[in-house]
Amino acid sequence: MKHELLTVKGIGDAMLLKLKQNAINSIIDIIHYLPSRYEKHEISSIHAMHFSETITLKATIVSPPVLNYIRKRLTKLIIEVITEEVVFKIVLFNREFLKSSLLVGAEVVVTGKFENTIKIMVASDLVLSKNYVLGIIPKYGLIDISDKVFSKLVKGSLHINQLPFEDPLPDEIIKKQQLLTQKDMIKIAHFPTSESDILAVSRRIKYEELFRFGLRIALLRQLNDQIVSKPKKYDIDKVKHFIDSLPFELTIDQKNVTNDIFRDLKKSNPMLRLLQGDVGSGKTVCSMIAAYAVVTGHEQVAIMAPTEILAYQHYQNFKEALEPFGVQVQFLSSSIKGNERTTILNNLQEGNIHILVGTHSLIQEEINFAHLGFVIIDEQHRFGVEQRKKLRLKGLEPDVLLMSATPIPRTLSIAIFGDMDISSIKSMPIGRKKVITTVADFSAIDSVIKRVNEELILNHQAYFIVPVIDGKEGTDLIGVSELFSILRNQISNKYNIEILHGKLKNEEKNEILSRFYEGMTQVLVSTTVVEVGLNALKATVMTVINAERFGLSQLHQLRGRVGRNDKQSYCYFLSDMVLLGNNRLDILEKTADGFEISEEDLRQRGPGEVFGSEQTGIPKFRMANIIEDEELLHLAFSDASSILNSRDLKAIKLIKNTLTMIENFQLD
Ligand code: ADP
Ligand code: MG
Repeated sequence: MKHELLTVKGIGDAMLLKLKQNAINSIIDIIHYLPSRYEKHEISSIHAMHFSETITLKATIVSPPVLNYIRKRLTKLIIEVITEEVVFKIVLFNREFLKSSLLVGAEVVVTGKFENTIKIMVASDLVLSKNYVLGIIPKYGLIDISDKVFSKLVKGSLHINQLPFEDPLPDEIIKKQQLLTQKDMIKIAHFPTSESDILAVSRRIKYEELFRFGLRIALLRQLNDQIVSKPKKYDIDKVKHFIDSLPFELTIDQKNVTNDIFRDLKKSNPMLRLLQGDVGSGKTVCSMIAAYAVVTGHEQVAIMAPTEILAYQHYQNFKEALEPFGVQVQFLSSSIKGNERTTILNNLQEGNIHILVGTHSLIQEEINFAHLGFVIIDEQHRFGVEQRKKLRLKGLEPDVLLMSATPIPRTLSIAIFGDMDISSIKSMPIGRKKVITTVADFSAIDSVIKRVNEELILNHQAYFIVPVIDGKEGTDLIGVSELFSILRNQISNKYNIEILHGKLKNEEKNEILSRFYEGMTQVLVSTTVVEVGLNALKATVMTVINAERFGLSQLHQLRGRVGRNDKQSYCYFLSDMVLLGNNRLDILEKTADGFEISEEDLRQRGPGEVFGSEQTGIPKFRMANIIEDEELLHLAFSDASSILNSRDLKAIKLIKNTLTMIENFQLD
């Protein structure tokens, strides 16, 4: 049988192969292959030119082009032209093949920039004006098929194709949001005539992407609400007694958060709550109260942190606080092996261990609890469907509390954490002094060292953070050992300086950290292994070298390693970018508000970079941008949740598509 594509005008055997190479195998594939971008072809006047901005001009060649061979694979073609009585030179690199067609008197259309003189334009594109098409030009980016040729194939396909073009979006949504129908969108996307056409196309595409995403989140939420779990029975008197025994009064935010958590514990479906709050705002204490409550109800708790160091620290904190109340807290890591491990696992299975602390891999391992009721996860932004499934397969439906020190703006939290409940701690415990922060170039290192020496005399400690283990030749990056030598020369030998980085063995790392923690080491030179959660109370100076290498939220996290007590602390962010007038880091001097900082960070780098693209759970959109398309996101999300509750046939079909990603969901 003849391939259906061969019925399209302009497609023969050779073109069929080329289309195949581009994964285009049917008429419908052609129609759905939308341009990846558009070029707007319009000709400007040289009088409208701004230096360093791209402009397209029509000009006439006034003298024969000159070709220079600069070096291997680099040629420079210089053409003198005139437009609107202005004569200038055009420079084109590696376009020697054009020379023969550029005759004196020929009219050309050239696109390029005037850098700082109107006498020379560096061109990116030049065509004879008879070959120049004005208007909006779709760019498909196909292999071996030009945009012009593909446009013709699209025309031919649309002509043949009488497919019904069923719109995936429900009609009422298309009407309500004034979207293009899919059919119109496709036609216009291939043959736009104005910029407003392009806007309408992109709005439709973005909306649909966000709507599908919103549907998925709304479904996940329903999924969680469908699961039944036993409400926790805890001993409220014991819990109150524990809270009273704390050496401080909980802040109002902490009380609210604790209430949120307890309300969840009492519900008959599992908690899935995110607790967000700045570094040092006192999240851990809240989770501790909840953990203790669960233990008083005779269920077990698992606490997981991203690194062993942090897990161990949580272990120490929980043990110190809860052991006096008869709670058995145990640490487990992959380096605990043999008999010791067997004993721990047995005790866990018999319920003799009440709280088990380890890294995020804890739930993946062959570990059996007697009755796991509560999981606390530190510094992880998502607890995905996969992870929940793993627990469920073990027959577990524990309450889950995630803790994050990267607070995020509301819109984004709807997108990232839409399937969870969120509690926030916004105010710091009273008595904290603001960390005095300085952003400066590297030459400030001398005054930093002076400050460090002053603080060491007061029996305080200092952190130095570098982005890499080894400083690389030919870059201005400073590594741990290099910095160590600089410091060792300028800090008295009375004080111990130690190096810490990710390549050390776990045991070594733990030893170094506990020496710092206990004050045997005064200065720690480290890579970002200390980024999250390390709590050395006597540390008062934090210096980050090559600070430009880090995101704002990360720097704010690092700053949170100091100022964890009532003493004045200092933070220095050193970056030679400051010399170049780059003021990206200035916001850190101005504010200590984690929400504000993360918002700026998201603007600068986007959610994937800030949270790690895996962790956000935000799909890679073709067009939509969670931050820029905030308004559309709200519309799409609210439509998605009302559609989910309607029982419209089309809606159900859409939902079923989304369901392929979400197993175990029962649609009634
Ligand atoms: P986070 O987990 O949010 O980074 P932590 O719970 O580790 O913060 O608390 C940081 C420090 O503040 C700890 O030393 C803790 O004991 C102390 N802290 C917590 N809550 C309060 C409070 N309400 N008042 C005073 N200090 C507090
Ligand atoms: Mg913490």
